[in-house]
Amino acid sequence: MNHNHPKEERTLVLLKPDAVQRALLGEIIHRFERKGLKIIGLKMIQMDEVLAKSHYGKYVDKPFFEGLKNFMGAAPIVAVVISGVGALKVVRTLIGSTKAYEAAAGTIRGDFAMSTQSNLIHASDPEENPEEEVTRFFSENELFSYKKINFDLLYAADELK
Ligand code: ADP
Repeated sequence: MNHNHPKEERTLVLLKPDAVQRALLGEIIHRFERKGLKIIGLKMIQMDEVLAKSHYGKYVDKPFFEGLKNFMGAAPIVAVVISGVGALKVVRTLIGSTKAYEAAAGTIRGDFAMSTQSNLIHASDPEENPEEEVTRFFSENELFSYKKINFDLLYAADELK
């Protein structure tokens, strides 16, 4: 049975090697939980060359691709699927802009990172087929549905009608 609300979207987040190596996993995941978002899938994986090329396919010809690929493979990553009403946009807002040194204070990148490459976290772009990203990293039997106990209060459920 599906316990997710029909208006909940799902989005892929990757906690990059710098988040793992700097021991920021708990801090970052905590921010999503506190916001009211729901974690429906989570695993640690190694990003190999094949995965880097499919995930960052549009950048393979960019001068920074080699460095990005090496960075993304330097330690494991943690892949997370996050769900919530409006989750695609909400998660992008929480992570902050790509160039971490310019990212707004209060965002994950703004609070914890200084680099364009090593910016701790990836989140699906709402405009670029986010479902494809989710299914690149997770099979359906690795994704879960449940109701948050505070769902109605959190979303003032009448607003969802
Ligand atoms: P975002 O991760 O914010 O969606 P992009 O899709 O533009 O940003 O880029 C994907 C990732 O590629 C960035 O998060 C960053 O790790 C890396 N990257 C992008 N541009 C550069 C650059 N000019 N130099 C080094 N790494 C970059």
